[in-house]
Amino acid sequence: MHENIEDLTHLKKLDSSTVLQCLKSRYKQKQFYTWAGPTLVALNPLKDVPELYSKRMMQLFAHESFTYKTPHIFALGQRTLRHLQWGLGKTHQAIVVNGESGAGKTCNALYLLSFLAAMETNNNEVPNSNNIEVLLCKSNPLLEALGNAQTLKNENSSRFGKLIRLVYLGEGASTQLVSAHIETYLLESTRVSRQAAGERNFHIFYQMLAGLSDSVKVELDLKDVPVWEIASERDCNAVDEAQFHTTVAALEQLSLEDTTNQLWKLLAALLHLGNVKFVVSKEGSSWTTDQQHHVESAARLLGLNSNELFQMVTVRNFQAGSNSPAVVRPCSSQNECAARRDTLIKLLYRLMFDTVLGSVNQKLQHTNDNGLSTPKYLCILDLYGFESFVYGNSLEQLCINYANERLQYYFTINYLKEQQVHLANEVFFIHPTTKHLTSIETGLNLINLEENVLDKHNLISFLDGPVSVFGVLNEECYLNRGCDDSQVCIRIQSSLTERTKGVKSMPPSPRMPRASKTKAPPVEFAIGHYAGLVSYSTVSMLDKNRDYVPGEMMSLLSKSKSPFIKLLLGKDALIFNATHTMNGRRHTVLAKFKNSLDNLMRILNACDVHYVRCIRPSVSEMQYTLSPSQRWDEDYVDSQLNACGVIDTIKVSSFGYPIRMSHEEFATRYQYLSTSRGDCKIDAKEICRRIAENYPQMASEIRVGNSQMYATEKGIELAERWKLQI
Ligand code: ATP
Ligand code: MG
Repeated sequence: MHENIEDLTHLKKLDSSTVLQCLKSRYKQKQFYTWAGPTLVALNPLKDVPELYSKRMMQLFAHESFTYKTPHIFALGQRTLRHLQWGLGKTHQAIVVNGESGAGKTCNALYLLSFLAAMETNNNEVPNSNNIEVLLCKSNPLLEALGNAQTLKNENSSRFGKLIRLVYLGEGASTQLVSAHIETYLLESTRVSRQAAGERNFHIFYQMLAGLSDSVKVELDLKDVPVWEIASERDCNAVDEAQFHTTVAALEQLSLEDTTNQLWKLLAALLHLGNVKFVVSKEGSSWTTDQQHHVESAARLLGLNSNELFQMVTVRNFQAGSNSPAVVRPCSSQNECAARRDTLIKLLYRLMFDTVLGSVNQKLQHTNDNGLSTPKYLCILDLYGFESFVYGNSLEQLCINYANERLQYYFTINYLKEQQVHLANEVFFIHPTTKHLTSIETGLNLINLEENVLDKHNLISFLDGPVSVFGVLNEECYLNRGCDDSQVCIRIQSSLTERTKGVKSMPPSPRMPRASKTKAPPVEFAIGHYAGLVSYSTVSMLDKNRDYVPGEMMSLLSKSKSPFIKLLLGKDALIFNATHTMNGRRHTVLAKFKNSLDNLMRILNACDVHYVRCIRPSVSEMQYTLSPSQRWDEDYVDSQLNACGVIDTIKVSSFGYPIRMSHEEFATRYQYLSTSRGDCKIDAKEICRRIAENYPQMASEIRVGNSQMYATEKGIELAERWKLQI
């Protein structure tokens, strides 16, 4: 029978199988949250549990004692808010929610947000629909419609990372939420033009196809089209129509009604563009299409001339040098035309996403800053989890896994620091000769931890350092010397091999794929991430990293008669024109992503960071029909606990001393080993000390801590043996 404790670090034995058993028994009892020291482990219930997040629960946690013992997402919210209000620790606070796709990051981040919003509404005497907390909650369905999609793992998978920064002013009980800002990371825009089998495009396409009235559909030429290549109407499900109305309501509540019609126009144009196919003209020297009506519709909706639009997609402009005249040449293949068409679709979608986000952020900007107090931030980070597919891991997965690697590294060094302080304060032992209480602060344990950190750091520099995977991919984009997929792969492999030379502490080494018998040129390299080995394909990686937008595409769009397109282009057109003159050398996707993560780390460094580790108990698609115990997949849970560092957390806590128990329990069990048997005047801790004194052979196996006893398995074995001998 397993003890049902609320904090995993209080387990008597701190190893992964005990942790698993404990979580499993809690899951069966519908106890979905558990502390792992300061970290909150959140098991996904895989079904709605409204009673867990009711208004009553919010009230309970709002008034729970400051010790916040009960594990719950609201408890973490309350703890963080208290830290912020009362200036405990750093000025700014952050909550990092992580876990793999479908684990529950977005759900937990939303519950956190609604708890914090409710705390604010409680403080406000007159609730106002323009309050930041209300606007924030309304912005969520809109951003989910534009940035979430159904994937093989999650029906509502976030395809972008998100940092919500809540800005507070004031001190103590008068602290007030005054504004907010949403920062997003790397929207997976490739999804707009192509989706993997069994996956869907962003929700907004299906919502609009299911929800728009017939008259609007006629206006947008959306009626009677048998198939939309980028988002088939047949894939619309029952929820899409209901969500369409939620999205429209969100747009209205955020006072973005003007955007609504423009949005449908733009998305309809993308659907039309997606249906355009290319055929060689009769003379064989240019391209034409048998879907001219889609070209016409797309051009009309984008405010462009249809001939110019088709030309731009099928004809390339070259310029040998900045002073040479431009040479115009038709694309050499159907694929090339399709790639240009897709570049346009992705560009417009990304610009639209950024523009809508910009408008939301404008609404969330504070208006009542009195300028008297310094703002304090409470940040909630919901970043995509570690991803690894059997085939086709590409630039997107490289970015996602790099982000996780950096977060994990951040967690390790910060947690390490906390542990050093904890161990120094907590664990003392009686020195065998001096008989003084001695701190074990400088023990071997800490040195091992440092090595652990060093390894992780090495892996990050393998990815983003000067001679690294990013280094090769960026250099090839900047040099633009026509390196093919296999050459890129070979360069990455050899630079990784080069890096391992002379490195004292070897990181998890990137393993090379074995050369196949047919000696096909390699297009895969593998990286041993902390969460597992991932094999990446270099096919199209350079193109994705370059993210090249032809100059003629931007010039055509800037001629658009649509005010919305002009709005979308905004600064980007200017930036593009300025950089285009430098031989089209723009920042690569990887360079921009690294930059945004550097900024994120700077934000986190200024904060006290609290962690929520989300765990999905099973991948089963039958989740709703199965009972909680049937839904528990032991190996799957174990691998997630390892991947998001819960097991590390526990190991670090138990370093060297996996068995912990209260002074009382130890004293009762082993009182016969003490010289002070039967003396009722001395307390349990003193009995423990005397036991340790009596048995110097146990000095390195048992530690009398300030708040509990720490022991190795050998220590307990010895104590048990001696007990029997008495
Ligand atoms: P992704 O990385 O793909 O965005 P995620 O970690 O954000 O995944 P969520 O979208 O939050 O995952 O959760 C996936 C699904 O799991 C939800 O749609 C919901 O059905 C269920 N779920 C997650 N957490 C909870 C919860 N606390 N209560 C009830 N259901 C939940
Ligand atoms: Mg999500």
